[in-house]
Amino acid sequence: MFVSIVIPLYNEEENIEPLYKSLKSVMDAEGKDYELLFIDDGSIDRTSELLEEIRQKDNNVRALSFRRNFGQTAAFAAGFDHAKGDVIVTIDGDLQNDPKDIPKLLSLMGEYDIVSGWRRNRKDPFLSRRFPSMVANYLISMVTGVKLHDYGCSLKAYKADVVKNISLYGEMHRFIPAVASWYGVKIAEVETTHHTRLRGKSKYGITRTIRVFLDLITVKFFQSFSTKPLQAFGPIGLVSELIGFVICLYLAIIKLSGQSIGGRPLLLFGVLLIIVGIQLIGMGLIGEMLVRVYHESQRKPIYVLKDSEDEKNT
Ligand code: UDP
Ligand code: MG
Repeated sequence: MFVSIVIPLYNEEENIEPLYKSLKSVMDAEGKDYELLFIDDGSIDRTSELLEEIRQKDNNVRALSFRRNFGQTAAFAAGFDHAKGDVIVTIDGDLQNDPKDIPKLLSLMGEYDIVSGWRRNRKDPFLSRRFPSMVANYLISMVTGVKLHDYGCSLKAYKADVVKNISLYGEMHRFIPAVASWYGVKIAEVETTHHTRLRGKSKYGITRTIRVFLDLITVKFFQSFSTKPLQAFGPIGLVSELIGFVICLYLAIIKLSGQSIGGRPLLLFGVLLIIVGIQLIGMGLIGEMLVRVYHESQRKPIYVLKDSEDEKNT
C-alpha cells in the first residue's frame, strides 16, 4: 500500500515545521511507503519558503503551489489529481487534526473505501463553529442519506480510485462521502482527536455555513436528478398541465353556454398553469439532451465496476 497524505496550507508558516515532524514520525513508524503532498494554497507568508526547505531535505515530500488562494476544496482536488498513492489521506495543515490518528484510519482501508474522522470532542468555539456544524451535519445526513456524525472533518482516508473520479468545487470536499456513495462505496467513521488551534488563525467564519448550504442543494440535485432530469421536472409539469387543462375546459364550456369569461382571473391562472407545465417538461427534455451529450462525449459509463475483471485478465 502506497499512502499519499494530502495537506492544504494557507498561511500556516508557524505550523508547517511541527506538522511535518509529526507526520514524518507517524508515517516512518507505520512502515508503509508514503509521500507527504503539501499544497500551498497561495499563501502570502513564509509557508512556501519553509515548504521548499523541507522538500529539498526529504524525498518523501512533494509540494504544489497555487498562484493565488483558491480555497481548501481546490487544494484537496489538486492533491487528489497529483497523488501517486493507492490510498489518499487528507488532513488539515494547522495540527487541529492529529497525525497520530492516521494509522487508525489506514488499518480500516482494507475493508472500507472511505474512512472518515469524527471530531467527537471538537475544540472550536460553539456559536460560530460547532453550532453551525451541528445544523449542517444534520441537514447533510438527512438530505444525502449518508449517515456520518462529522462531515466537516478533514482527516479522512480514501481509496485513490474513489476520489479521482469525483470532480470538486465550492465547499464540496465535505460531500465526498455523499457523492461517492453513488459509486457504492463502503464508508466507516472513526473517532479522532481534535486540538485547539495553537498557532496561526482560522481562515473561516460564519459565512461558510451559507456556502455549505448552497452546495448541499447542488449535491442533492445532482445525486437525484443528474441522470434523469425529465423524471425530476416531468411530474410537476404534467400535474400543472392537467390542472390548467381542466380549468380551461371548464371555462370553455361556460363560454359556449353563452357567458363571457374574458374578465375571470381563473382564465389567467389556467393559461399560466399550461404554459408553466410545457416549460417544465421542456426543461426536463433539455436536461435529458445534456445528459446524453455528456455521457456520449465523455464516454462515461452509467455504472461503476468493482474491480475490473477485464483489467485483471490483461
Ligand atoms: N486552508 C486552505 N485554503 C484556504 C483556507 C484554509 O488551504 O483558503 C487550509 C488551512 O491552511 C488549514 C485547513 O485548510 O490547513 C483548514 O483551515 P482552517 O484551520 O482555517 O479551518 P477550520 O479548522 O477553522 O475549520
Ligand atoms: Mg483548523
